This record gives sequence, structure tokens and C-alpha cells, in this order.
Amino acid sequence: MRTVGEPVKQIQPEGPAGPAPLPFREFLIKVQSSCNLACDYCYVYRAADTGWRTQPRTMASATAEQVCHRIAEHARDHALSSLQIVLHGGEPLLAGPSFLDALLGRLRTALPSSTRADLVIQTNGTLVDDAVLALCHEYGVRLGVSLDGGPAVNDRHRVDHAGRGSHDAVAKVLRRLGQDRHRPVWAGLLCTVDVTTDPLAVYEHLLSFQPPAIDLMLPLGNWDHPPPHRSADPASVPYADWLRAVFDRWYPAPGPPTRIPFFEAVIDLVLGGAGGIESVGGGPSRMVVVDTDGSLTQSDQLKTAYDGAPGTGRDVWRDSFDTLLTHPGILARQAGTGALCEECRACPVLRVCGGGHYPHRYRQGSGFANPSVYSPDLRSLIGHVSRTVLGDLDRLIEGGLPR
Ligand code: SF4
Repeated sequence: MRTVGEPVKQIQPEGPAGPAPLPFREFLIKVQSSCNLACDYCYVYRAADTGWRTQPRTMASATAEQVCHRIAEHARDHALSSLQIVLHGGEPLLAGPSFLDALLGRLRTALPSSTRADLVIQTNGTLVDDAVLALCHEYGVRLGVSLDGGPAVNDRHRVDHAGRGSHDAVAKVLRRLGQDRHRPVWAGLLCTVDVTTDPLAVYEHLLSFQPPAIDLMLPLGNWDHPPPHRSADPASVPYADWLRAVFDRWYPAPGPPTRIPFFEAVIDLVLGGAGGIESVGGGPSRMVVVDTDGSLTQSDQLKTAYDGAPGTGRDVWRDSFDTLLTHPGILARQAGTGALCEECRACPVLRVCGGGHYPHRYRQGSGFANPSVYSPDLRSLIGHVSRTVLGDLDRLIEGGLPR
């Protein structure tokens, strides 16, 4: 799952070293299964999984209460010093301020005082009003807002059910979030890459709102359902080309820079770090999803693989989060590079790429034991970032950076 904001570090276990599964540290709560937008690339409503059809539209108060209890139980049992909780949908703000107020209030009282909670609402931005902002300030919740570029770009994909674009409504909210008093509750922008657009025009438009971070997300896809414009030709790297143009503008820009977690993670990995995000590096996933009915599922981005892919058969009423730690799907996502296919294990950029994002590896028959469907793009982009960063290091060692 991609949400805007400080990524939860995934690598260091809280408990003793060894093969024991790692406790969850990112809890994605689906408080609303419906949305007021109908984006054409949405993985909730337009992917292979149809679980949303039978989900309650809004999580019931009793379910929300039980979710809070289960998260607090997990935090206590594993002495978690920090965790991230993301309220998600559909569109989570459709659940309404009083529901969100009750949920956040319950979380505040249920979590151990020794656990720092990073609270995020991932929203399409159209419903942010005074009441929502007041809640964010009250509970220290940050808003991650989706925007794909200027009106012509964003409104190609991000439209309401009548086909009307969402850009202008979101832009109005972003101008409020950019004000000094609201900046602390703004996590940043989430932009899904469309390679038919001008990357620098998109980047400059997003930058014009002065967001604290821009999360660049590759469209979901896999070998059976390739992403748009990702052909079988390994020499074609449209996503690397698009991202490289943005990287080359972002990397040398005078600071303080707007954060781009994907680029930061690749640089960190190139320099020997852990990366800290799920989509590169191959670190173990520490994320779990709770649906509106209380079902516990794996990453909801697995919805793109096949119907029922994210399901585990567990729920917050009968099962603690601990019981999920032995589920084969969770174990596979925690196996890191140990679960990768031969091609990845022999790949020269494996340490940085880590096989890419787990859902992007799926192919019917071989499951997730494949390279990422974005493999040519990943190799190309990682090579470019490595050459840029390591070239700078060489120059530094030889006597100072030229800029
Ligand atoms: S670039 Fe491709 S082959 Fe190499 S590790 Fe990533 S997904 Fe695997």
C-alpha cells in the first residue's frame, strides 16, 4: 500500500533476531468502502478482487472499537515503540467527522503511552473542510492527498461518478493545507504516474502547492495485466524515462527539497541503507489491512492479482493480529529477498531493487515468484540514480562537489 508520509521503517525487528515473523507496524484501516470519485485506475473498484461489493459502506462503531483494541493489544504484546495507522477507503472522509472523532479518540486512549502513533488519513482531497482540519489538529493526524498533475492530466483519470474532474476542488484544499497553520497536518501528495504526460510539467505543478512530500506511485499491474504502456520489450523503459526526468530536476535542486520518498529510498539503498518503503529494497512487509467489516487482509494492492488475493479468513472479532503472523501470505511478504525468483537473485541491482513491489510480481501459475513487471524500468532507473549519486561521491572524495 502506498500512502503519503513518513514511511515506517521495515527492517529492524523489535524482538530477538531469528526466523520469527515480525510484528505489524503499519495498520491500514478501511473505514469506508465507497468513494465519491470513480478514478479509472482504481485498484479497489476496478481490479480483479471484488470484495468491496459485499463490504459495509462504513465501518460500524463496534467494529472500529474492536480494531482499536486489537492494535493496542499488538502494540503492548510486542512493545512497539512506534507504529503507523492509516485511515483509508474508498474515501475515508465519507465516514463523517463524528465517526472519525470517535475512532481517533478511542485510539488515543487505547494505545500504550510508550507507543508513538503516526496517524494519516489518505484522502482524495475533495471533502476536506473545517471540521476535518479541526480533527486533524486535535489528534495530530496528517492528510495524504491524491493529485496527479494539472487539470488536464489529473482530470483524465480522477473524475467523479458523472465524469467531472476533481482537480479544482483538490487544488482549493491544497492551498489551505499550504498555509502555515495547516502545514503540520499535511503529509503530502500522492501522484500516480501517467507516462503519456510531460514529467516536468506534472512535477512543477505538484511543486507549486509546496507540499512537504510527493509520493510517486507506479500504476498497479502485473504480468497478466501489465501496466499501461509497459510492453514486453525489455528495451522499452517508459516509467524509468519519466521518473528520471523528475529525478534529474529534483536531485540537484537547492534545498530544502520537497521529499520524494521513492527517490530517497533508492538513494538510501544505493548507499547501503534499508530504504524503508515497500516498493523497493525487498525488506519484509510489516503492513496489515482491516476491511470495513473487520476482516483482516494482506496488502489491498494484491486486489490486482486475482479475486480474493488479499483475503486471510481472519477478522478482528475472533483473531488477534498475532494469529495473522503465521499466515502463508504474510510469511511470504516477510521473506524478503529469500522469496525471490532466480532471475532476481542473479540481478546486478537486486540489493537496491529487491524484486520491486510485491503485487507487481504476480503471474498466474508462478504466483509472485517472478521479477517485477516493471523490471526493465527498475534496472534502468536504479542504474541512473546509482551513477548520479556514486559519481557525486567520487567527486566529493576527489576534492569537493562541483555544485
Ligand atoms: S530489476 Fe528486475 S530482475 Fe532485478 S531485482 Fe528488480 S525485479 Fe528482479
